[in-house]
Amino acid sequence: MKVPYLSFDHQHKILHKQLETAFKRILKNGWFILGNELVKFEQSYAKINKVKYAIGVGNGLDALVIALRALNIKEGAEVIVPSNTYIASWLAVSIVGATPIPVEPNEKTYNINPALIEKHITKATKAIMPVHLYGQCCEMDAIAKIAKKHKLFIVEDNAQAHLSTFNKKMAGSFGHINGTSFYPGKNLGALGDGGMVTTNDEVFADKVKILRNYGSKVKYNNIVKGFNSRLDELQAAFLEVKLSKLRKFTDNRIQLAKHYLKELKDIGDIQLPYTHPKATHVYHIFPILTQYRNELQAYLLKEGIGTLIHYPIPPHLQLAYKELGYKKGDFPIAEWIANSSLSLPLYPGLSINDVNFVCRKIKSFYKGKK
Ligand SMILES: *Cc1c(COP(=O)(O)O)cnc(C)c1O
Repeated sequence: MKVPYLSFDHQHKILHKQLETAFKRILKNGWFILGNELVKFEQSYAKINKVKYAIGVGNGLDALVIALRALNIKEGAEVIVPSNTYIASWLAVSIVGATPIPVEPNEKTYNINPALIEKHITKATKAIMPVHLYGQCCEMDAIAKIAKKHKLFIVEDNAQAHLSTFNKKMAGSFGHINGTSFYPGKNLGALGDGGMVTTNDEVFADKVKILRNYGSKVKYNNIVKGFNSRLDELQAAFLEVKLSKLRKFTDNRIQLAKHYLKELKDIGDIQLPYTHPKATHVYHIFPILTQYRNELQAYLLKEGIGTLIHYPIPPHLQLAYKELGYKKGDFPIAEWIANSSLSLPLYPGLSINDVNFVCRKIKSFYKGKK
């Protein structure tokens, strides 16, 4: 028996015909950039996410960069980011010339800890970027309160949490402007790169539309220095097809995660994913934390089970951020997660049988431990 970390087989089997139809339609129409397919998907995405505007862009990193540019965040500004995140959240801040200011996560949700944000706010702080990591929406009530008190923007990084909620409100609908990714492995993934900016503000929406298309609204009339970052017609059409099954696939993820939670309860030193009582989790990733992480990963690999680590090196210890001068020990919670987390296989179409197999192997691994 083999269980890969991730497989698209099930999704693509179900959606094969529809994806092929979309491809053929666009090939026949011969219109590939900024057309009706994109408008349609933007409308569908906005509706499902309960936001007024959704603007398709090239990828998730661009979505965040363009969102920050639309807010006019630039050199001299500071943006609060989580210490525990994928580096893209930090890079977006750096790309616009601002400085990422890391804040440690809550030890159970792994998301930014709202109680630690305020002491990092300075005169230069312009925004907070909550990242809904692993599929769980951040504590947006507390974060919104802080942002309001200090007159800061909120820019959500919703790359990992399509359809997750906090207080019944959708992730990606809290911020002044937000970004998400349709990288293939995300819960809503394209067949290539893709991203989206969401907002309820007409002015910001208009700015994003201009920024994604060379800074022009009228062709050859460039009013700002923009980007070439557009969600192309093919990807928009594929995503429209995928979106029709997102709820179903998400429910499938939740069901599998619940099975893992039940089977792995009280096994060894494992810390299982925890969901805040006001949040819903869509389990983009199912990380378990254990001091035996590397040994367990090697053991599972030998047994035919694929796992990944999200993420082995936190941004503050990356070479790319050496100019900020951080060292080991500066963000101990982020480092603890990086050193002890292991992501188990979880994707639509994974069977309960597969989950049982993975859990059985994990249990036998811990039999030899204290
Ligand atoms: C994937 C991801 C991004 C970047 O998305 P891309 O489409 O790969 O550029 C940003 N933030 C987080 C948290 C992500 O997981």
